[in-house]
Amino acid sequence: MSARIISGTAIAFQIREEIRQEVIELKAQHGIEPGLVTIIVGKNPASISYVTAKQKTAKELGFYSVQEDMPEDISETALLEMIGKYNKDPKIHGILVQLPLPKQVNETKILYAIDPDKDVDGFHPVNVGKLMIGEARFYPCTPYGIQQLLMRSNVQIDGAEVVVVGRSNIVGKPISMMLAQKAKGANATVTMCHTGTRDLTFHTKRADILIVAAGRPKAITADMVKEGVVIIDVGVNRIGMTPEGKAKLCGDVDFEALKEKAAAITPVPGGVGPMTITMLMLNTVKAAKYTVSSKQ
Ligand code: NAP
Repeated sequence: MSARIISGTAIAFQIREEIRQEVIELKAQHGIEPGLVTIIVGKNPASISYVTAKQKTAKELGFYSVQEDMPEDISETALLEMIGKYNKDPKIHGILVQLPLPKQVNETKILYAIDPDKDVDGFHPVNVGKLMIGEARFYPCTPYGIQQLLMRSNVQIDGAEVVVVGRSNIVGKPISMMLAQKAKGANATVTMCHTGTRDLTFHTKRADILIVAAGRPKAITADMVKEGVVIIDVGVNRIGMTPEGKAKLCGDVDFEALKEKAAAITPVPGGVGPMTITMLMLNTVKAAKYTVSSKQ
């Protein structure tokens, strides 16, 4: 058997077309352009490339977008003031602070300062709490993208045994919580694994859907899964350079071996990655729409 490839590139394209349409409608009916500010501190090449891609997508979709490039030695107070300014700016609906931040700045304090109604990354504790009780306003972008990949590929989530490898606050915990909700695109039985899990294979072998966010190349091999599993590989590992000088990437699963055993699998690159930025755009449109509905 050779697995169906779940293309994040194709699904992200489809969602972006839907967003483009919503942006046109928001402008025509309410005179609003979804506004996104991305704040970057320092010159970390990975952060610069992520923020550049986010800004490019925002512009392509017709957003009002602002990029703030701040120096590496910025003080916490100055960054808090900047967030305060955008919290009050009616043209801005989404605020994204690219992580990591330099040592002199307390990351938690910065994320907590963002107005939860503009927290399009979904990391503010108010939004994390709302997600937990099934009342999320914003889902964090990567888990949201994973759920959309599954739903739009017609994978049966309701009643499925889902095993998540990883318990980070940005991927493992939120996707586990989202898929366990009594809701559409959820209602699964979820097991969350981590380095304290005694027998990882015992769990992964039971999975109908296996979501891997471990940050380790080949953490999951063919002997660890059952025939017909659906695999979402979240991992992005840099394993050298291509002849063209680009970073060579691989995921967290042994793709070549697993595609012979799985029913469906996401590739790396071209799987979860393109979805993450797209869901940030969708969250920003949602934030803009809330400002309209809260005035009505
Ligand atoms: P993280 O914070 O490093 O968390 C990794 C998690 O995996 C931890 O909970 C860790 O357990 C667990 N783990 C590691 N090795 C394991 C093993 N051998 N067996 C069982 N559990 C194991 O990573 P993250 O931020 O969630 O990211 C995970 C991966 O996804 C990374 O490669 C990252 O680059 C990628 N990622 C991609 C996107 C995207 O848009 N494509 C977005 C976010 C992240 P402990 O808690 O016990 O340490």
